[in-house]
Amino acid sequence: MVKRIEFDEPKCIAAGQCVMTAPEVFDQRDEDGVAIVLQPVPAPEHWDAVRDAVAICPAAALLLVDI
Ligand code: SF4
Repeated sequence: MVKRIEFDEPKCIAAGQCVMTAPEVFDQRDEDGVAIVLQPVPAPEHWDAVRDAVAICPAAALLLVDI
């Protein structure tokens, strides 16, 4: 199975929880803190951390979907 991250960038409020939860998968832009998805198709070992990031994102800007 393969999973892909859907990131609704306009919703992102630059809170940074995703970066703290899954630093291998997410980063933040230096200029405004908006998230950057480093691994749009994350490796399976990162799925649990991505699920945590999806759950904790205060803007509901992230989804992990099957492809
Ligand atoms: S946790 Fe959500 S709101 Fe915060 S930086 Fe990540 S995507 Fe943006």
